[in-house]
Amino acid sequence: MLKAAIVPVTPFAQNCSVLWCDETMQGAVVDPGGDLDQVLGVVEKQGVTLEKILVTHGHLDHAVADLRDRLKLPIEGPHEADRFWIEKLPAHGQQFGFPPLREFTPDRWLRNGDTATVGNLTFEVFHCPGHTPGHIVFFHRPAMLAVVGDVLFKGSIGRTDFPRGDHEALIASIRERLFPLGDDVRFIPGHGPMSTFGWERKTNPYVSDLAVGVR
Ligand SMILES: [Zn+2]
Ligand SMILES: [Zn+2]
Repeated sequence: MLKAAIVPVTPFAQNCSVLWCDETMQGAVVDPGGDLDQVLGVVEKQGVTLEKILVTHGHLDHAVADLRDRLKLPIEGPHEADRFWIEKLPAHGQQFGFPPLREFTPDRWLRNGDTATVGNLTFEVFHCPGHTPGHIVFFHRPAMLAVVGDVLFKGSIGRTDFPRGDHEALIASIRERLFPLGDDVRFIPGHGPMSTFGWERKTNPYVSDLAVGVR
């Protein structure tokens, strides 16, 4: 069975998730930011052995190089279209007054239709461009749980004013790739509280049926 814990980290109040398989107790950290001691404290408390780092998109608030170096973990994701973001991480970090951020090279770029495993769990990968061109979403169908990064939030959607952001692509990603997975799907967003696709389809001012003119 899938287990999940959310650890809010960094000045951007970013959600770092720890996902693990309760049969093997193997786990993954999704989108690790700073505050690694806090994240690893949760990992240790739950008795999880980390096997990899999963990354939804190449943003500066998702620095992963430190965790990789500390635990020698492979990195999977995002989609290669975010390579330009990852390569600019050091410069962007400086711009925002962060301690020096470091770029990283994923061991495996992910594409729409790929799967990523954690212990005995299989996550389906959905490419959801818009916030960044290489943004991906991890979906565990048996638990109907999605980790959506900065694609969709409770009551909002990801910013598209960054380089190569695309508002229409983002709406299409949410409406055509995520909502068809089902109203009952719960999701962990990159920031803020959890919600369900059904609730957002009904109430989200940016992507609800009403907002896009679907009856
Ligand atoms: Zn982002
Ligand atoms: Zn973010």
